[in-house]
Amino acid sequence: MKVGFIGLGHMGAPMSSNVLAAGHELVVHDVRPDAAAGLLAAGASWAGSPGEAGADRDVVITMLPGPTQVEEVLLGPGGLLAGLAAGATWIDMSTSVPAVADKVRAAAGPGHPVLDAPVAGGITGAAAGTLQIFVGGATEDYLRFRPLLEAMGDPERIQHTGPHGAGYTVKLMLNLLWFANVTLTAEALTIGVRAGVDVATLRRSLLTSAAASHFLEHDVLSVLERGDFDESFALALACKDLGLAVDLARQTGVPAEMTAMVEQIYRRARAQYGDAGGQLLPMKLIEDLTATPLRLAEPQE
Ligand code: NAD
Repeated sequence: MKVGFIGLGHMGAPMSSNVLAAGHELVVHDVRPDAAAGLLAAGASWAGSPGEAGADRDVVITMLPGPTQVEEVLLGPGGLLAGLAAGATWIDMSTSVPAVADKVRAAAGPGHPVLDAPVAGGITGAAAGTLQIFVGGATEDYLRFRPLLEAMGDPERIQHTGPHGAGYTVKLMLNLLWFANVTLTAEALTIGVRAGVDVATLRRSLLTSAAASHFLEHDVLSVLERGDFDESFALALACKDLGLAVDLARQTGVPAEMTAMVEQIYRRARAQYGDAGGQLLPMKLIEDLTATPLRLAEPQE
């Protein structure tokens, strides 16, 4: 398949590399040309603009920070939509919102199929080609491009979640729950430790209880074992996702006090530690406030 790929950051670089390794003919673009060096060395070609990345392609994938960049790349000067080959498909794998894709579909008309296909699994999943992928759009388009998605994701966890926009929505709700877990786990562990329970004992007890979570079992160990707040996903992106979740709650008429509070905690962490800080830094906020570092004496199995 002739594939274009725009957005070669933490996620897009390894994802596009897996597309190339699966035997597709690949053209790439990013505002940072140096981001393409490894891909060009491996056999991909360079496009000077989003529009150029769409010429002569069967499908173009975007993996951009969020709605602002997606709109700019699709509809801005030198944009993808104007350059997209007749009949070519656009797949947006960014964590974004239906509104921008709706605008693009309205401008594109029926000649260009569109899928939203955001992902979960982080840079480890992107590098290993084992991402979870949530696809919104027409069934026939989903089935046609499933083999391409399988180059980047785990076939067992590539799901058609519904019509246009359903992929974006599922992904935003996943991130909302995960970020809520980060903030509440930090509070629970800190209270428990300050009340005199050893952090390893507290975690082990919670893990064998009804309060266990995937976060407490796996992801929290990055902080507890290594003091690593995970810069592979930036606070700026986390705030973008939580802002989009709050917007979606407003649009759907759902009162969402907890969502708003998690968003505020993340915005505080971003103000304190900067845009590029890691997504687990809300844990450091409470560590710093209470002078209670959450660290295990020994690595857990
Ligand atoms: P990133 O900031 O590392 O990469 C974004 C890339 O887009 C950069 O290379 C940037 O130069 C490029 N870009 C920005 N504006 C552009 C434009 N106008 N034209 C062309 N290129 C442009 O971000 P990331 O961590 O790779 O995340 C990408 C998307 O995937 C985001 O929507 C994020 O929420 C989502 N996501 C990230 C992770 C993760 O662990 N990092 C996991 C799941 C989903």
